[in-house]
Amino acid sequence: MKRFRFMVFLSLLMCSLAIAGCSNDESQSNSKDSKLHIATTFYPMYEFTKNITKDKAQVDLLIPANVEPHDWDPSPKDIEKIQKSDLLIYNSPELETWAPDLQKSINNVKFVNASKGISLIKGSKEEEEGDKGSHLDPHVWLDPVLAQKEVENITKAIVAKDPEHKAYYEKNSQAYIQQLKQLDHLYRTTLENAPKKEFITQHTAFSYLAKEYGLKQVPISGLTPEQEPSPARLAELKKFAKKHQVKIIYFEEIASPKVAQTLANEVGAKTEVLSPLEGLTKEEQDKGLNYVKIMKRNLDSLKKSLMNP
Ligand SMILES: [Zn+2]
Repeated sequence: MKRFRFMVFLSLLMCSLAIAGCSNDESQSNSKDSKLHIATTFYPMYEFTKNITKDKAQVDLLIPANVEPHDWDPSPKDIEKIQKSDLLIYNSPELETWAPDLQKSINNVKFVNASKGISLIKGSKEEEEGDKGSHLDPHVWLDPVLAQKEVENITKAIVAKDPEHKAYYEKNSQAYIQQLKQLDHLYRTTLENAPKKEFITQHTAFSYLAKEYGLKQVPISGLTPEQEPSPARLAELKKFAKKHQVKIIYFEEIASPKVAQTLANEVGAKTEVLSPLEGLTKEEQDKGLNYVKIMKRNLDSLKKSLMNP
């Protein structure tokens, strides 16, 4: 339903932009400087891109930090911003479900699917009860190994658009990938010896991370955080938590922690934040927080339940 509304909206919008186009064209091309303009969807796409281009490109973040990328659709203003860009970097058609449709109506902007070439895994049975069209899991950026693949994909697309600065982009990209490799090493060596492998999360954001490091994620809701669990699912989770003596239920900052808290109260567990990195506020960025630091914080959070059975 949501997708249908967006398609109608999109076709109406493209008509009006085509009419307005003629009169605006000149002023637009004059105001555009020679720098590469890159629109990115949500925070990790922004950070990955920014670390490759540094100040050689103007990198814009489209989705505000307090908005779930699962629920976001571009406004006319956003579409205008995308149209004025050379590239649009997004994670995958399973997360930014609007991107493939928009791509068909915009010719001069290169749409870059950062997860291209990564084989996406299916959501498990209880997650498929939701009414979303696609059941493939988009959360690849939360696996430090797959994040490297995304950085490589983004680098290739930027180099193709601006080959003049190839060496510069590739050097930056390599330096950033090095940080991701160190992060992977830290996760691997820490979790290798964890006596406990199961953890309960608010939504199914950590499947790739769990798979990478031999953990088992038990989600309260499905692939999107707003999906409410059924009473049967909650009862099942309660049983699981008691059986495995789960002491911590993980929740995230953006979505409402209500269900996680209810479950925690009922089984006598505490709650801890595990960030799916679906947004980072300006304040957090100003404090120097970034993907690598939040991923390290997530590891500290995980250690609290996995290392203390
Ligand atoms: Zn998510």
